[in-house]
Amino acid sequence: MELILSDTMGYCGGVFRAISMVEQAIDEAKQKGVPVYSLGRVIHNSQVCSSFTDQGLETITSADGHPPGIVVLRAHGVADALRRQFVDSGFTIMDATCPVVSRNLNLIAKNQKDAEIVIVGHENHPETLAMQGVERNGRAYPSISIISPADVSQLKKGRAYAVFVQTTFDRLLWREVRSALLALKVQGYSIEFCNEVCPSSVNRRDAVLRLSEQCDAILVVGGKDSANTRALYTLVVGIGKKAWHIETEDEITSEMKGYAILGITAGASTPPQTIDAVIAKLKEN
Ligand code: SF4
Repeated sequence: MELILSDTMGYCGGVFRAISMVEQAIDEAKQKGVPVYSLGRVIHNSQVCSSFTDQGLETITSADGHPPGIVVLRAHGVADALRRQFVDSGFTIMDATCPVVSRNLNLIAKNQKDAEIVIVGHENHPETLAMQGVERNGRAYPSISIISPADVSQLKKGRAYAVFVQTTFDRLLWREVRSALLALKVQGYSIEFCNEVCPSSVNRRDAVLRLSEQCDAILVVGGKDSANTRALYTLVVGIGKKAWHIETEDEITSEMKGYAILGITAGASTPPQTIDAVIAKLKEN
């Protein structure tokens, strides 16, 4: 069996930065003798999260009921009200919000004055919640949520709209939503597109499509609850290629090893150690 690795896979810049900040936070907390927290799971990968838990990191969803310590805000960003809650409760914040996400959150605050904010994002995704929770002058303005092309019917002619998309939103779905919004724009609606899905996600998806052309089947490695990993798997299956989504090397089967050319890709939250362990197990025998 020949193995071909995707030329773009594994940690994106934002996740790599967040992981480094958590490691730094754990070290600082140990030195100061204070608790250390992450607001929500740092990344969608059980193995990495368990390792951090073993080192003392506690995952929390609010400041309530927790003694102050160091809290890491993850790469997806956080609603302003929640951030304030931690500051007011005496926590030290280490902000691991990805710079790409921060730029979008700043642009939302800037645009709130002149346009209604339209947020294209998966419901309850942390990044969507962060975008919905942006405040200007201490106040969160209502925004319009869109998750499918049909949702654009909420927009009204004669109003101005600033559109923001979740950086990891499904690219094909985004293309459909964008087309529906463009169709309104052609009819005279005032719509400004303020950002795009993150190039990191796009590059990873383009790479797996190229990889699929060279391989008989594709193994997608990453957390089962990682949206971008699942999107890679769905993309490959969607073009009619045999694929599996596994979290660790323990899920490798003899069927996977039965293909002449097997491609490997991994989501943005998959650690390099996991990818290496999968490759090593596939090369056994
Ligand atoms: S996918 Fe892009 S925006 Fe999201 S954390 Fe990674 S680098 Fe940042």
